[in-house]
Amino acid sequence: MKIPNYEIYALKYAGPFARPKAMVTWFTDLDQIALVDYYVFVIRGGEQTIIVDCGCSPQLAKKRNLIHYVNPTEVLKRIGVDARKVENVVVTHIHFDHVSGINLFPRANVFVQESEFNFWIKNPMAQRAPFLLVTDPMANRYLAKLQGTERLRLIRGDRQIFPGIELLRAPGHTIGHQVVAVQTAKGKAIIGSDAAHMFSSYRTDIPSALITDMIAWMKSYDKIRQKASSIDLIFPGHDPGMMQNYPKVAEDVTRLV
Ligand SMILES: [Zn+2]
Repeated sequence: MKIPNYEIYALKYAGPFARPKAMVTWFTDLDQIALVDYYVFVIRGGEQTIIVDCGCSPQLAKKRNLIHYVNPTEVLKRIGVDARKVENVVVTHIHFDHVSGINLFPRANVFVQESEFNFWIKNPMAQRAPFLLVTDPMANRYLAKLQGTERLRLIRGDRQIFPGIELLRAPGHTIGHQVVAVQTAKGKAIIGSDAAHMFSSYRTDIPSALITDMIAWMKSYDKIRQKASSIDLIFPGHDPGMMQNYPKVAEDVTRLV
């Protein structure tokens, strides 16, 4: 079977937020501010439409006061994707801004690393204060209920899930963070999600300040850079550059490759 060349879209569903720059570039520039956006990604090609990360639910967005928030399902509609019919969703990691919207995709198979699932859903340590800051309990309960069903696809390590689409375990930001390697017309691209908040991290080796394991993180950077055909094809989780420097295909939607 011929492997299709996929396209990757970035869809902004909230932001921009002003944050201390040190939060997104590990204690550098302590007195500066950086802007961040919140995203959902879409991979399209052949017959496939795959969603990478679910965004935030309307309930939690309200609770957390997310500015410029739009329900991710509305942003998806702008490029003709009906969330209710989506069949496959990759969850890169179980932080609220990436997983809270899980119930917006009621039919989808959910691909998540087993180590990530086990930590957030089963390990009492995940109930400690720093972890709760980035948790949506509702989404985690939803995930827990999926256990044992066909829909939950727990992945161990690196695995091709469709021709030309491979999940790569890339821990550091979280215990079982994963990224998605995608065959495109420009070569192998990586949807890195929060392996880096900003593009610059892949050049400077400076990740965000939201760390579970820095040594693992550096190894993940080596792995991601080695896998991508070019450093320009590695896409971060929160960089506003993704809205500014790529062709716009709809309101708050760009084609990255
Ligand atoms: Zn994030």
